[in-house]
Amino acid sequence: MIDLADTTEEAAFRQELRAWLQDHAPGEPPPETLPERHRFLKAWHRRLHEGGWTGISWPTQYGGRGLGVIEESIFNVELGHAEAPAGPHFGYIGRPLLHYGTEEQKQRYLPPMLASEELWCQGFSEPDAGSDLAGLSTRAVESGERFVVSGQKVWTSFAQFADLCLLLARTDPTAPKHAGITALILDMHSPGVTVRPLAMSTGDAEFCEVFLDEVEVPKENVVGNVGQGWEIALTTLAYERGPVDIGFQARFERFLGRLVDEAARRGGKDDPAVRRTLASAAVAVEVLRLQCLRSLTTRIESAEPPGPEGSVDKLLMAATEQQLTKAALAILGPETLLADQSWFKAYLYARSASVYGGTREIQKNILASRVLQLPQG
Ligand SMILES: Cc1cc2nc3c(=O)[nH]c(=O)nc-3n(C[C@H](O)[C@H](O)[C@H](O)COP(=O)(O)OP(=O)(O)OC[C@H]3O[C@@H](n4cnc5c(N)ncnc54)[C@H](O)[C@@H]3O)c2cc1C
Repeated sequence: MIDLADTTEEAAFRQELRAWLQDHAPGEPPPETLPERHRFLKAWHRRLHEGGWTGISWPTQYGGRGLGVIEESIFNVELGHAEAPAGPHFGYIGRPLLHYGTEEQKQRYLPPMLASEELWCQGFSEPDAGSDLAGLSTRAVESGERFVVSGQKVWTSFAQFADLCLLLARTDPTAPKHAGITALILDMHSPGVTVRPLAMSTGDAEFCEVFLDEVEVPKENVVGNVGQGWEIALTTLAYERGPVDIGFQARFERFLGRLVDEAARRGGKDDPAVRRTLASAAVAVEVLRLQCLRSLTTRIESAEPPGPEGSVDKLLMAATEQQLTKAALAILGPETLLADQSWFKAYLYARSASVYGGTREIQKNILASRVLQLPQG
């Protein structure tokens, strides 16, 4: 088990961060509408970078600080507790580049990623390839020094703001479906790329359709080897699913705290039904905290990318977010549809937590087959 007490160095790191956050964290919450929120968060992420707070556990030669997962988790927790907006969410794309990218690719792409100078999106899902991702049909045809890519992606988060995309495409249609896929770095500003935002139930158009019409991608933009795309996709998704970011848990704790305050303000703390709902949500948040710590222990001990066990984190995180936001609606009632709709929007957004990064059912299948090794069929 890990020792949860800070070492002298960790305590100093935490103090330095707290002091920095006091002076630099935005005093107000991110704006409601997506384009303004995007601008606000980009400015925040750049400020974090200037302060030396991005890529905390990334190698120094690519712009990181070369510290460990403990410092990374201290950063996430402190941000959560300071009520500061979350840090940039690029780890699940940067980490596979660190593992599979060439030295040139790492030098070229990682520093601007850390500085939020170039934004990335993830071009995996297609209209007929979500859970069955290996069934993707976007084609990349070799032509001299480049691949020519045609097809369609969907649900591509923040593609309308992205400069680059980690794209999966089929380079060998004759190979078994998992073997014929290649990961490519796509310049989103290339001729032939069309991005069409899709509205979500929250009203935001956060994800997009991306149409690719004979888009040229230089061969030097292949990540890993041609045909290695499936392995790279699994690594990327493993980073996206888990280990769960303890910053999420800190945010859920704060959400619960605000809900408890609201319930108290309305005298609901004396209502047994409200108390039960709050207690059950508090237990879920605490269980998630313990799972975060367990995952963190595994990450400290392992130099390897995370494996299928991250599906536990993903399931638990989605369930906790959904339970919490449902509790808010149950306690605050129809008022959540009136003046301040943030509680209701949080409830709607939480529905997506059991879909993005692979659905709840797919996480259960992964755990059954790859972790518990249960018989198939
Ligand atoms: C907010 C959000 C952001 C996203 N961002 C991105 C992104 O940036 N990039 C990207 O590439 N994708 C993104 N996605 C897409 C996401 O990865 C897919 O939606 C997800 O993998 C499910 O695929 P699908 O929507 O095609 O559903 P389907 O695969 O069609 O699944 C439909 C239903 O069938 C169930 N099902 C399917 N197969 C099985 C099975 N074998 N066993 C049991 N049940 C099964 C599923 O659980 C689901 O309930 C995002 C999705 C959301 C909601």
